[in-house]
Amino acid sequence: MTFQIYPTLEIPETLAAGPGPGNTDARVLQAFSSAGVADHMQGDVLRGMIECKHMLREIWGTDNTYTFAVAGTGWSGLDTMFSAVMPGDKVVAFANGTFSGIDALTLRIKAATPEEHTANPMDPQAASVTVIEVPHGQPVTGEMVEEVLAVHKPKWAFMAHWETGSGRVNDLRGFSDACERHGAIGLIDAVSSLGVADFRIDDFPGIAGWASCPQKGLCCLPLTYAPVSFSAAYIDALKTTGAYSYVHNPIFEARHWGIVDGQDVEKGTYHRTHSGYAVAAFHEALRLTLQEGLAKRAHSYRTHEAVLRDAVTAMGCEVTSDMPSLVVLNLPPELAGREMELVQNCRARGFGIWPTLSAPVQVRIGILNQLNHRSISRIVHLFAEAVCEMGGSVDFEAIEALLESRYGTSIAA
Ligand SMILES: *Cc1c(COP(=O)(O)O)cnc(C)c1O
Repeated sequence: MTFQIYPTLEIPETLAAGPGPGNTDARVLQAFSSAGVADHMQGDVLRGMIECKHMLREIWGTDNTYTFAVAGTGWSGLDTMFSAVMPGDKVVAFANGTFSGIDALTLRIKAATPEEHTANPMDPQAASVTVIEVPHGQPVTGEMVEEVLAVHKPKWAFMAHWETGSGRVNDLRGFSDACERHGAIGLIDAVSSLGVADFRIDDFPGIAGWASCPQKGLCCLPLTYAPVSFSAAYIDALKTTGAYSYVHNPIFEARHWGIVDGQDVEKGTYHRTHSGYAVAAFHEALRLTLQEGLAKRAHSYRTHEAVLRDAVTAMGCEVTSDMPSLVVLNLPPELAGREMELVQNCRARGFGIWPTLSAPVQVRIGILNQLNHRSISRIVHLFAEAVCEMGGSVDFEAIEALLESRYGTSIAA
């Protein structure tokens, strides 16, 4: 065996134009890299966490005391949210793409009995969990949720707010109302909607648990903090039946954010080692969101998504998504079947678009933190070049005219 010390790892700058991570904001990077060395009980780190908690409540529109963030990425927040689901619990999960599909797997893992785990350890078939599979590209509707909850009367109901796999917006209002009507504790994967959509948790009283991520709408770094929020109904359920986790138990995890026994306290208490760098970055990302304002940002996403959608449609693509931060498309008929090749060509050039991760293979182009004329033009041009390179035909003049008419100026002006 030979041993070598590798050269320092250098990672190039790329354009993150997929479903996420987004383009971490320069202000966030600056906050991350300029944080001093300080331990997790240092006064400013603890104060930063308390301030983050208050900013999160403001951004998410909630009085839920148990609103804080979990170290890690989206799955860390989701695992924390699902931690109160116990073996044998009756659950209904709606899956309409890659991510809600993994959420449904997580729910089966949590609700499976020991016998069910032994029978199929990597994919337990929990009899108490009903997964409603909604075909790729279709939304979960309120009527669907109403109908299924009326029949099954589960303890827990789950849905993704925005299913990033297929680019679908699901019916939050219908889901919340159905949960209220049928006494289900509603759980939502809000990983891709927080920081992009203008909505308030407290407008959806049927939903008791929410989980998001740092690196999509909030423009922060992955492996910083995944926001979560829990209503009193969720915390009561957790207190009654517990959770098989120390680090992902919301009651324990909240303590470091200054939430103890359902009350805000002045200073967080030890739970685990938190990172001053991550706290500083997350704090800046939340400040950025509040300074810009969610209503304004949500409007901006819709405006720029519409331009990108129309530009790729003018190139002969068919857009099948309805998510303001992401366009999911089929290539023009003459390039059908070559989606992977196109995505790989783009990625090799640092233009980080994505395929869908489950069938059918489609192309996903995201605009996280790319909300201006120059950035959208750059994405449109890079995509148009990739289409041309594979033999597709693009009328560059028409595309240019479309961009100019939508933005009212040329970039040079
Ligand atoms: C991105 C995403 C996830 C996974 O989040 P990570 O930050 O990659 O752990 C889960 N659910 C949805 C809806 C997502 O978009």
